[in-house]
Amino acid sequence: MTDLAARIAACRLCADRFAATRTAHGPRPVAWFAPTARIRVIGQAPGMRVHETGLPFNDASGDRLRDWMGIDRATFYDKSRIAITPMAFCFPGYDARGSDLPPPKICATTWHDAVDAALAETRLTLIIGAHAQRRYLATRAPVTETVAAWRDHAPRIFPLPHPSWRNTGWLKRNPWFEAELVPVLRASIADELGETP
Ligand code: SF4
Repeated sequence: MTDLAARIAACRLCADRFAATRTAHGPRPVAWFAPTARIRVIGQAPGMRVHETGLPFNDASGDRLRDWMGIDRATFYDKSRIAITPMAFCFPGYDARGSDLPPPKICATTWHDAVDAALAETRLTLIIGAHAQRRYLATRAPVTETVAAWRDHAPRIFPLPHPSWRNTGWLKRNPWFEAELVPVLRASIADELGETP
């Protein structure tokens, strides 16, 4: 595991791709997992703030995700309990509209089979956004449709929308998410962390 995390941290496969983006940044893989983790978060890719700090979900998206999960930063960043393994481990850069580029496919094809094997004992998995849902739920359905069918997967797996501020409108249009899914997610996470009252 340490070896795998170290090999991911040393990966530079996308150096040319990232150098060609507007930010012309270099790879900075943020590989955040340990063999004891029983909760796994599979998101899209780090944003710029995460790229700068080396800490996953260290931004407003992370604050919203932690709120959905019902846990504080200390618990979220306890690597022995929570693994964070996005579809790409590096910030991909921005597109012409200033949105994050999609995660380079080469990252999941290069690393995720090994990460899946290393985290085979995970008991609760959050699958965030279309890219992760495509791979881990084998669906090409729109995110809204996949998340609306969350009861098909709970309590071991929860498909989620990205917690980005860009999805604030989505949350308003889909009040069932925070009213119905989030309480079950919080209870499942508390149960897994041994914090059920
Ligand atoms: S995104 Fe993945 S494949 Fe690309 S350089 Fe980073 S760790 Fe390597």
